[in-house]
Amino acid sequence: MNKIVSKFGGSSVANARQIEKVRQIVISDPARRLVVVSAPGKDETDLEKVTDHLFNIATDGGHFRLKGKTLTAAQSFESVMAKFASLVKDLGIDGADILRDLEADLNSPIEGQKRIDFFASRGEHYSAKVIQRYFRATGIDARLKLPEEIGFVVSERFGDAKVLPATYANLEQSLDDDGVAIIPGYYGLTLKGDIAVLSRGGSDLTGGEVAYAVKADLYENWTDTNGVYQVDPRQIADAAVIPELTYKEIRLLSSKGFNVFHFDAMVSCKKRQIPINVRNTNNPSAPGTMIVSAREPHETAVGIARMDGLAFIYIEKDMIGETIGFTKDLLDIFKDYNISTHHYPSDRDDIAVIVDQLDLRGKTDGLLDDIRRSLNPDVLEVNYDLSLLSPVGIGMKDTPGVLARAAGALYQESINIEIVDQGPSQMCIHFGIHECNAAKGLETLYRTLLKK
Ligand code: ASP
Repeated sequence: MNKIVSKFGGSSVANARQIEKVRQIVISDPARRLVVVSAPGKDETDLEKVTDHLFNIATDGGHFRLKGKTLTAAQSFESVMAKFASLVKDLGIDGADILRDLEADLNSPIEGQKRIDFFASRGEHYSAKVIQRYFRATGIDARLKLPEEIGFVVSERFGDAKVLPATYANLEQSLDDDGVAIIPGYYGLTLKGDIAVLSRGGSDLTGGEVAYAVKADLYENWTDTNGVYQVDPRQIADAAVIPELTYKEIRLLSSKGFNVFHFDAMVSCKKRQIPINVRNTNNPSAPGTMIVSAREPHETAVGIARMDGLAFIYIEKDMIGETIGFTKDLLDIFKDYNISTHHYPSDRDDIAVIVDQLDLRGKTDGLLDDIRRSLNPDVLEVNYDLSLLSPVGIGMKDTPGVLARAAGALYQESINIEIVDQGPSQMCIHFGIHECNAAKGLETLYRTLLKK
């Protein structure tokens, strides 16, 4: 029988109504035998997610203080307890022991970074316990598979733990039984026996790793949107859901408005060519977006990414193009400052390096001094407030005229292109324009390249 791993995000398990939707989805296909769950997210009654409250308890109010909010650890404790109490009550399950254990965990004396990870993991841990009990109460043979019991082992990088290779064989073995496995996402166990969490949004990663380990036929990522949209639907209201995308296309689209799931979650699935289906728990009849290794393009561009808040460092010097190692020496300086570089279009006598504006904070003077000192440029300047609009699609490869149409449309709107860079795969063109033109530019490119 086919094996589907279904991961349900925080909004899908935020309250009893949502959990009932999850149940309906799970029972509607017998192949859905591995269910990964997040901690309860926010519904209309919550101001914060359970995981944030848990961080706040562990840090004695520090987590929200850092965000400029005044929520004490005691208030967060109340909120978490109230959330789980209402889940138990509204689902009509007998969960007194679950609530007792949760309360004991939230009073744990554990100290230091281990404390933060242990607390942060409790949202997923108890979400899985509640859901498993509810499923059993409704007649599903649901089996709780806790990371600490199934050998989901992770590195000791607390707060950003990485899955260790031993996990795969362990999971393959421990998840190979009947029934529906309910697996809490987001955390694992270190080899020393401590609980460590993956990066934020890490339940997606758990789902991807489980899919890889059990050689699943499909990894479903259930969330609260109908799939991956052509452009951020908050910016272009009539943008459509993309039915099918390759892993490479979604990587290229990865930017504002496309963060429907954790991109690292794709890495393992890609290795085994396991398709990923992004679906909407609130609209299960919608087919969502399929992310696959290969597809036949039926269009030129499939989506447009938009990235704001960029800057480019412009360098002019005679003979750059002929100086062997110039680009390497330049990029090494960015590396020394731990600044990640997005693109570096270059020409005979000049080069621009595009970076995140925020990454320059506190480093600009030192960076420019070092560039001056080691490379002695004729011109060196920083240009701020750049946006990149990047049409993406495998259909763009070998199609003449895409760049001309896009640039022509921007010209018609009097939008100046400051930088243009075509990705070497020919599946993406990056237009760098001033941020003040970004909204209009996106609308223009959407109309020209995507709108039917
Ligand atoms: N609960 C964790 C978070 O809020 C992980 C997840 O939901 O995927 O980041």
